[in-house]
Amino acid sequence: AARPADSYLTGLNPEQRRAVETIEGPLLVLAGAGTGKTRVLTTRIAHIIATGTAFPSQILAVTFTNKAAREMKERIGRLVGSVAEGMPWLGTFHSIGTKILRRHAELVGLRSDFTILDTDDQIRLLKQILRAENIDDKRWPARQLANVIDSWKNRAITPDRVSAGEAHSFAQGRAAELYKMYQERLKVLNAADFGDLLVETIRLFRENPDVLANYQQRFRYILVDEYQDTNVAQYLWLRLLAQGRHNICCVGDDDQSIYGWRGAEVDNILRFEHDFPGAGVVRLERNYRSTAHILATASHLIAHNEGRLGKTLRTEDDPGQRVTITGAWDSEEEARQIGEAIENAQSRGDDLSQVAVLVRISAQMREVEDRFVQLGLPYRVIGGPRFYERLEIRDAMAYLRCVVSQADDLAFERIFNTPKRGLGDATLQTMHAYARHAGVPLMQATRALLETEELKPRQRTTLRDLIANFDRWSRQLETLPHTELAETVLEESGYTAMWQADRSPDAAGRLENLKELVRSLEEFPDLPSFLEHVSLVMEAAESDSDARVSIMTLHAAKGLEFDTVFLPGWEEGLFPNQRALDEQGRAGLEEERRLAYVGITRARKSARIMFASNRRIHGLWNATAPSRFIDELPEAHVEVTEAPAAYSYGGYARNRFDQAAGSFGSTYDTPGWTRARQNTPNTGHATSPGGRRGGNRVIEGEIVARSSGPSSTFKPGDRVFHQKFGPGTVESCEGNKLAIEFDKAGRKTVVDSFVKPA
Ligand code: ATP
Ligand code: MG
Repeated sequence: AARPADSYLTGLNPEQRRAVETIEGPLLVLAGAGTGKTRVLTTRIAHIIATGTAFPSQILAVTFTNKAAREMKERIGRLVGSVAEGMPWLGTFHSIGTKILRRHAELVGLRSDFTILDTDDQIRLLKQILRAENIDDKRWPARQLANVIDSWKNRAITPDRVSAGEAHSFAQGRAAELYKMYQERLKVLNAADFGDLLVETIRLFRENPDVLANYQQRFRYILVDEYQDTNVAQYLWLRLLAQGRHNICCVGDDDQSIYGWRGAEVDNILRFEHDFPGAGVVRLERNYRSTAHILATASHLIAHNEGRLGKTLRTEDDPGQRVTITGAWDSEEEARQIGEAIENAQSRGDDLSQVAVLVRISAQMREVEDRFVQLGLPYRVIGGPRFYERLEIRDAMAYLRCVVSQADDLAFERIFNTPKRGLGDATLQTMHAYARHAGVPLMQATRALLETEELKPRQRTTLRDLIANFDRWSRQLETLPHTELAETVLEESGYTAMWQADRSPDAAGRLENLKELVRSLEEFPDLPSFLEHVSLVMEAAESDSDARVSIMTLHAAKGLEFDTVFLPGWEEGLFPNQRALDEQGRAGLEEERRLAYVGITRARKSARIMFASNRRIHGLWNATAPSRFIDELPEAHVEVTEAPAAYSYGGYARNRFDQAAGSFGSTYDTPGWTRARQNTPNTGHATSPGGRRGGNRVIEGEIVARSSGPSSTFKPGDRVFHQKFGPGTVESCEGNKLAIEFDKAGRKTVVDSFVKPA
């Protein structure tokens, strides 16, 4: 489609236009949220293509997510029409790194079809190395080593460059040596991990100047979005590529740097002007996204941070609605408030795809998701699995399913060796073979096998313990409150301990999710009704309409925008998060505040900040204090709204809330908050009516019966052949169990289904 050559430029303000049209030389666009940085980047690509300055394939554009890359591709397509000369190199650091590395794999000791390891593969490989080196995996978990290695890779430190000062305490200072072995193993396996996609490309460039020169020539224009969140390796990678033509344009906002914990360095912004002397700097000050109230609220909040480059932001938009602050009695009520508000919006005809719920930690999603399912509100979880689809939740649910029904084979199979109990595939195959033959569930088959010597003694002991555990837990269905039982099961099975021993960054989140799971049980009279609820939630996943509410973490929301944004959980300890508060200095707190800034600035028209006075943290109800960030909001732009009366927990909660609402002010420990904090019973309403001990529990399958199975077709004296033990003679039969004198293995008890007539 023919378009006037510069139609894509219309509507840009003068600064944006300068940023789009200054295409020669290094350029830094440093500007606040919603000022059109991403739009500038996209338009700049369109401009380079439309003016014929370069072919699309000579442009390299880096985005923070694959989703952002897809959107940018679409937008460019719309701006310049379909282009014949290929597409720009547009993607994340990782996807572009992969593309380059595949082309030159042999130069770094890989083949072009190398596999990319995910975190699980990476851990498995490190475990093998630790085992081979006789390093105790309990004392020095593989996940911890993975983190050490990742942090080196984030800084582009290869094994030979780990300096003495970097030597890590892991396994008495052996981390660097193990890192080297790991890299060697990767090469043997023809594999690369995520970090390698960049670090190996950097090595490729450093060791092969001709290859580097080639890419420096090719990429005439380099563009980078969300520049504030690049780590050192990404920075070095960019610098190598840009040093040919110096046409690099980075856009970013120091106030939105939220990946410090993953190695991102805001200093890269400062380094830019140093490494690219004469770099132009464009500041964009007009925000096109949010109303004046929203923008003022966000700006006022972020002004509490010290280490800022500083910038002004203005909008010509309507003042719009004030940012609302709503308190709830507890997190459940908070979820109800969100649900109700969205239902109202829906009945007014609002587009649900323009609504988002942004949480600080993923465990907060569960209550919101549950509420949406109850209301039939379609939703999607962005940037991660939905609560009940998470690995640790599926594992825990599998345990609970086995407790309720010992005939649940899928569940049993999932956890029979999680945590690791030394039961392998061979054991499972034996169990399966018997179960199929006898037509009984796996657990029942296992019981029968325990009476025989089909399995090795060590495995028999392990399985005997496991089955005894399940028998005990199943009996406790009748005697323990189901929340307590769930906790017991997760403790006694070693499942919780498994994650406690885990040093990876997501382990803490997984433990939080497990606690959240136990907490969610409280809302149901018993385990079976809970399990049924979950299967319904899982089914609700199928809704395929685009008009869905988005639920995601604040981290995943970067760069996105929505008409309406809900921001629940603004409480001390949750947001700002305790771990950030425990950090030394202000760095942790300031990063949390930037995250709050990112959250508010996602909203176009309506931002709703929420907090609850009671939240279950680490399994206990805690009276929580509203976030200090709430006190840092400008009174002129926010409004404290009341929870709808119908949703309060009687007069008690109402009073608490009124005190809270009445005392909203600029100090953190206002009397109202403090009172609310002291008066709240620690157990909250954990014992709500409805009774948790009663209820009909259906326990399928046999629990205690020692199964003897069908009776044998063999008789004493028969010559037989056993899959594992070879030929032998039947000595005696009892049900389906045979005592056989094997020619080589001696006397053993086996089940007849594994025996054939000789
Ligand atoms: P963030 O920091 O959150 O990533 P950003 O600076 O990248 O924000 P954009 O997402 O590019 O901002 O733009 C924010 C919104 O403002 C978008 O909806 C965009 O289309 C719109 N916008 C940007 N510039 C203009 C303009 N000149 N006229 C009209 N709308 C604009
Ligand atoms: Mg952007």
